[in-house]
Amino acid sequence: MTTILDGKAIAAALRAAIKQRVAAYASKPCLAVILVGDDPASHVYVRNKAAACAEAGIQSREIRLPATTSEAELLRHVQTLNHDDNVHGILVQLPLPAHMHSLSVIAAIDPRKDVDGFHVVNAGKLAVGEKGLVPCTPKGCLHVLRTHLGSLSGKHAVILGRSNIVGKPMAQLLLSEHCTVTICHSKTQHLAEETRRADILVAAIGKPKFVTGDMVKQGAVVIDVGINRTPEGKLVGDVDFDSVSAVASAITPVPGGIGPMTIACLLQNTLEAYESIVNHEA
Ligand code: NDP
Repeated sequence: MTTILDGKAIAAALRAAIKQRVAAYASKPCLAVILVGDDPASHVYVRNKAAACAEAGIQSREIRLPATTSEAELLRHVQTLNHDDNVHGILVQLPLPAHMHSLSVIAAIDPRKDVDGFHVVNAGKLAVGEKGLVPCTPKGCLHVLRTHLGSLSGKHAVILGRSNIVGKPMAQLLLSEHCTVTICHSKTQHLAEETRRADILVAAIGKPKFVTGDMVKQGAVVIDVGINRTPEGKLVGDVDFDSVSAVASAITPVPGGIGPMTIACLLQNTLEAYESIVNHEA
């Protein structure tokens, strides 16, 4: 019997715990989101983040800038938020318009307020095992895995994808949980041989239904990070749910798997940033 790992329910429990922790503070954490341009998906994401903040008792601010904004102007907004003591988390919604360099913009964010966990200081902290802000999606994947499996020690984890926002930090997190970690990417040879070795398989490649049942070991736990829209407008993951759920012992669905976890972990990062700033840590 395959367990469907219900990201919505796990995220709801995490959000309730965050709400309770926030309620205990007299002052409140505040997340500032900068949105540049008119990308419709980004507008939906930002709206969802603001609603999730409100529900958890976290304040949020939205700064909307036209697509024609210069990078210098965007950086001035980031600096203003860096110096604002009432703001504890800063998120610049990606993707940015083509004339901007997202790495330079991320580098300008105060690492203590970098709730996406993309700043090189936070990436470095994760790499050396120091406490820092961890990217929300892999953090959410880990939370699901720990909720389901408890200890991950000694498991062979295979990650498909090596992006800075999912694949690489996922590998660091699983390594710190004492997994044996294999990272695969577009140049990996004999991919199915690698994936069939996985006790834990994390797919984050952006290719609809790419992982099929014959690529998965009997009893593996499969985490599907992918969010892809079919030509018919349906959301599907990077995993072919039907064939993989026939062999996996547990699997996250799309939608309702890692997506809700990502938002819950953004709230958690905002709370952690707030706590470390008000306690003058780091
Ligand atoms: P990127 O495009 O940045 O990275 C994709 C990675 O997949 C690359 O490392 C690439 O390899 C690898 N890859 C591509 N094709 C193959 C292949 N055929 N075989 C093996 N590896 C391959 O994507 P992201 O990491 O940003 O996102 C991955 C997916 O996760 C997307 O569907 C995205 O929408 C989704 N996502 C979901 C989130 C959520 O909240 N649930 C949040 C963030 C992302 P190479 O490096 O060699 O090019």
